[in-house]
Amino acid sequence: MAPEYPENRCKRCGRCMTVCPVYQVTGHEADVARGRLALLEKMDSATLRRSPRFSEILTRCLLCGACTQACANSVPAAQIIQAGRQGLHASHRRWLENPLARTIRKGDLSPRIVSKGGSLLQALFCKRIPDSSGLHLRFPLSFFTKRTVVPPLARRPFIQTFQARPNETKVSTRVAVFVGCGANYLYPEAAWALVEILHRIGVSIVVPRDQGCCGLPAFVSGDTETARCLAKKNIEAFSSSDVDTVLSLCASCGSHWTAMPRLFEPGSTWRQAADALAEKHQDAMAFLAREERALRSRLYENDRDAASPENKPIRVVYHEPCHRRIGQGLGVEAPEALLRRIPGVTLIHSAHPEQCCGHGGTFNLTHFDLSMKILDRRMEDLLARQPNAIVTGCTGCLLQLTEGVSRRGLAGSVLVCHPLVLVADFLEELVPSNLPRADRKSAR
Ligand code: SF4
Ligand code: SF4
Repeated sequence: MAPEYPENRCKRCGRCMTVCPVYQVTGHEADVARGRLALLEKMDSATLRRSPRFSEILTRCLLCGACTQACANSVPAAQIIQAGRQGLHASHRRWLENPLARTIRKGDLSPRIVSKGGSLLQALFCKRIPDSSGLHLRFPLSFFTKRTVVPPLARRPFIQTFQARPNETKVSTRVAVFVGCGANYLYPEAAWALVEILHRIGVSIVVPRDQGCCGLPAFVSGDTETARCLAKKNIEAFSSSDVDTVLSLCASCGSHWTAMPRLFEPGSTWRQAADALAEKHQDAMAFLAREERALRSRLYENDRDAASPENKPIRVVYHEPCHRRIGQGLGVEAPEALLRRIPGVTLIHSAHPEQCCGHGGTFNLTHFDLSMKILDRRMEDLLARQPNAIVTGCTGCLLQLTEGVSRRGLAGSVLVCHPLVLVADFLEELVPSNLPRADRKSAR
């Protein structure tokens, strides 16, 4: 499919300048929707001049969608910019020249190799490649070389470890879980937390083993062909799972999952299958908040014990991912409702809750220094109210905020985790489960 450029009705009003995280840091016209759209407008897609400068301008966007939300004309700037990247990719095929990157993005490496070999690759990349090496230009290693924290890969990825457990409570619902690479390899504790909570409220869980990457990293870099391949793999993995609901626990994956149909021609069989799965998709926290009655009766009924002095007070600030707020049109109500239920938790709010953390799919890889400047602003806001924990429902944001905490010398004193981890920990303290928890604790 050739890139489709959605209609550009930009009136140059400049409203997007008030919300664009990149523009707010750089102050360059070319870094805001208005500037990028003006550039794109001048170039016919067929004769697009793909200069390095033009390519740079298109990639310096987080695709967060904040501009569209603020725009009186609802100009779909992120979609237009993404379509521009797609055009660039089709002509440059820069990624396709790198077989390793392509293999990883297509998810062809076996999970065992990723898990066992990943740490080695990281170490090799970090320590053994001199700064002057041309390899740094061929593969974006700033993620490894410039970060203060490179999270360890899970020794036991979630999907390969998960086994359906018999439910003790009466099963009310059956759901499938889309895990995503971040939760599978970096934050398996978040996936285990979801499984434990679902299990306790009597929800039966299916985790299709053949699922792969959601395809967002490929899609945002303009590689629609790879994104489509990955979507087909996931459609095949989930279509046979006979469930009404597919849950995701990472906002980036969830946002891409709901937008999966746009990868296929309208009316095609793949499009119909993608539409059906997108309709079944729900954000895990939104799903749990809707199951409030079950949560209350089965989980929080023991409030008396929960209020015991052993529950240490903890100040928690919730960071809402752009891919959840804008990408999926969800609000903070569900995660905040779940967090409020935890005795000892004081939910605090930052002054600018809609600020982006600067991760943005592959933006963190391709524009690391800029990404860190955006992160600095976010950290200042989040830390102003002195939280003990920063929680967020996106594995990309988790990576970014962990880095932010570490850069400020607060690793170890400010916890960064998925909200469901706090909920699951609380439930375990409240009513210890007799389920094997070794999975979660030994995943690292
Ligand atoms: S993208 Fe929208 S908000 Fe930004 S300048 Fe154009 S019309 Fe105004
Ligand atoms: S999508 Fe986000 S980063 Fe890109 S131009 Fe719009 S507001 Fe700026």
